[in-house]
Amino acid sequence: MNFKKDFPILNQKVNGSRLVYFDNAATSQKPQCVIDALNNYYSTFNSNVHRGVHELSQLATNAYEEGREIVKNFIGAKSSKEIVFTKGTTDSINIVARSWAINNLKAGDEVLITTMEHHSNIVPWQMICEQTGAKLIVAPIDKKGQLIFNQLDKIIGKQTKLISISHVSNTLGTVNPIKEIMQLAQKFDTKVLVDAAQSAPHFKLNVQEMDCDFLAFSGHKIFGPTGIGVLYVREENYSNMAPFIGGGDMIKEVNFDKTTYNAPPFMFEAGTPNIAGVVGMSEAIKYIQGIGMEKINHLENELLKYATEKMSSIAGLEIIGTADDKTSVISFTFNGIHHFDLGTILDKLGIAVRTGHHCTQPLMKFFDISGTARISFAFYNTKEEIDYFIDALKKAIKMLS
Ligand code: PMP
Repeated sequence: MNFKKDFPILNQKVNGSRLVYFDNAATSQKPQCVIDALNNYYSTFNSNVHRGVHELSQLATNAYEEGREIVKNFIGAKSSKEIVFTKGTTDSINIVARSWAINNLKAGDEVLITTMEHHSNIVPWQMICEQTGAKLIVAPIDKKGQLIFNQLDKIIGKQTKLISISHVSNTLGTVNPIKEIMQLAQKFDTKVLVDAAQSAPHFKLNVQEMDCDFLAFSGHKIFGPTGIGVLYVREENYSNMAPFIGGGDMIKEVNFDKTTYNAPPFMFEAGTPNIAGVVGMSEAIKYIQGIGMEKINHLENELLKYATEKMSSIAGLEIIGTADDKTSVISFTFNGIHHFDLGTILDKLGIAVRTGHHCTQPLMKFFDISGTARISFAFYNTKEEIDYFIDALKKAIKMLS
């Protein structure tokens, strides 16, 4: 199936060669229907939500609240009240840190993360631990880049108040066993936040099956616009959360002596929200649901297998992250060649790859490397593109050796 025809940006040349876009873990491209939805919003019903009696405001409010329903169904939440619109994964994690963690953690408590976390799932917890006296604990991984699961039950205990874990590692592609982690967490009443930034684009999520407390993802990685994201909050957790950004729309009544707050999720959406972002993200979700998440997952796994086999046969190339359960990401280094130089030559040939530490500096230290080159797939990529990439990579290696 030719999905590329739906993505105008993919049908162009970059540096004189046809674009091969292998940087989907950083951000994915947008189909025409998303671009059209944004255009239509601004051309026909741009208006502020929740506040106006006029027709355009009603239309904007309807689209915004329909977006909440679409997201609710996309992640299998029980109620649309559990969906908070945010700026993205980073913002969602920080909301949990500032609205839940700061009010529920104290000295002696622990927050558990893993060695493979993105900086946005490390730094907010360090900040909260500094303020509350709680301790940040890091779960170990093995050299394949997978959690050492049988050590987890030694680390998790009644002092563990929160586990915040990536569903899929953006650097390694490792898929973490959320269900098993939930089972451990539930023994100790530990809350679990799933960073789904890298899983939402690739497979079907169901928060009720996962049974997690919080889940975060970004619109721009699921073929929607930048600046919009989602925080799922299991409804019962709202009772232990307080808003930390005050302003319009998050209030019930404001008096100089006392303000009362709007109900969640609105309590956590102060100010004019990213209405266009919700419209665009909703369209993106409809688009990928039209293809089917199972089909997307299948296509991407084929690409992952194909590329892994081809790359494994290149002498001197080392794949960083060889977990048994992986999706869509291949990080690699090459003996004696800097990842940045590889990335620069590939770019000259029209291939967009990412190089560096991928916002996972502690993980780079674990592997004792300064960075990697990383390719990451979406369903619109093809085996033919992988063949072109492998040829280009061999050329680059020859030039740089
Ligand atoms: N977590 C993971 C696993 C990610 O891959 C990313 C983005 N690279 C983030 C969090 C942060 O997402 P955003 O920049 O969209 O807030």
